[in-house]
Amino acid sequence: MQLTKKEIRAPHLSAILVGELGPSSTYVNNKIKACHEVGFASSLYKYPENVSEQVLLDKVKELNENDDIDGFIVQLPLPAHINVEKIIEAIDPAKDADGFHPINLGKMAKNLPALVSATPKGIMEMLKYYQIETAGKHCVVLGRSQIVGLPVSILLGRKSYPGDCTVTLAHSKTKNIAGITQQADILIAAIGSPHFIKEDMVKEGAVIIDVGTNSIPDPGKKSGYRLTGDVDFERVAPKCSAISPVPGGVGLMTIAALLQNTMQAAKERRKF
Ligand code: NAP
Repeated sequence: MQLTKKEIRAPHLSAILVGELGPSSTYVNNKIKACHEVGFASSLYKYPENVSEQVLLDKVKELNENDDIDGFIVQLPLPAHINVEKIIEAIDPAKDADGFHPINLGKMAKNLPALVSATPKGIMEMLKYYQIETAGKHCVVLGRSQIVGLPVSILLGRKSYPGDCTVTLAHSKTKNIAGITQQADILIAAIGSPHFIKEDMVKEGAVIIDVGTNSIPDPGKKSGYRLTGDVDFERVAPKCSAISPVPGGVGLMTIAALLQNTMQAAKERRKF
C-alpha cells in the first residue's frame, strides 16, 4: 500500500515447481496465495518430474536476468536426477528468496546482512515476537539439514538476540538423543519423524519449536491424512513454557519470512 502510494512497483516473487507429487505444489500454492494477500506480484513456472537439469538451469539464468523479478525460489525436493547444489548455486544470491545459496549461508554465519534461510528466519521472528529469552540458554537443534537445522543452529549461536545460546546440534548419528533433549531449555525439532519427541524427552518449562511437517493417515479427514509435527504435542505441551503447533506454527512463519526476504531483495536491488 505504502509502496503504491510512492508509485513503486510491488515486489515480485517467482517460484519454480518440478512435478506435481507430494506436498510441494500445496506449499508453492500457499506461497503464491500469500503474495496475493500482501499485494506482491507472483509467478509460477511448472515443470514435469522428468525435466532436465539444463532446462532448470536455463530458467534460473532467465529469472536471474529478468529485471521484473525481485526474488525467486526453486521448491525442494527436486527429483534425484537433478543436482540440487548446482541449481542452488546458479541462483543470483541477490534474488535468493529462500536464502539457500552458499553466499547467503556464509554471510549469515558471519552475521553480515544476508537473505537468511526462510524457515530459520521465521523461527527467529517467532522467538522475538514471544520475547523468549535466549542468552545463555541451552538450545538443542534436532536435525542438521542445510535448509533448517544447520542454519538455525548457527543463528542461535550468534552473538545477538535471538542468539547467544549454547547450541547442541543433534542428528541421526547422535547417541542418547533423549539424554540430550532433556537438557534443552529451547528444543528445535526438525527431523521429519511424526511424534518423535515424547514427554519424557523434555525438561519441565522448556520452549519447543516444532518444524516437522509430516503427513499421517487420518480416516476422519476427507483427504485421508492430516499434518502433524515431530513433537507429540498433546502429551508434551503441558510440560512446556511455550510450544509451537503443527500446522499453524513454523509453516506460517516460513511464508512470512519468504515475503520479508522478497521485500529485502527488492529494496536492495531497486534502492527504495
Ligand atoms: P531433512 O533434510 O530430511 O533432514 C533431516 C535431519 O534430521 C537430518 O539431519 C537427519 O540426520 C536428522 N534425523 C532424521 N531422523 C532422525 C532421528 N531419528 N534422530 C535424529 N536425527 C534424525 O529434513 P528437513 O528438510 O530439514 O526437514 C525436517 C522436517 O521439517 C520435515 O518434516 C520437513 O517437512 C519440515 N520442514 C518444515 C518447513 C516449514 O516451513 N514448516 C520447512 C522445511 C522443512 P542426518 O543428517 O544424520 O541424516
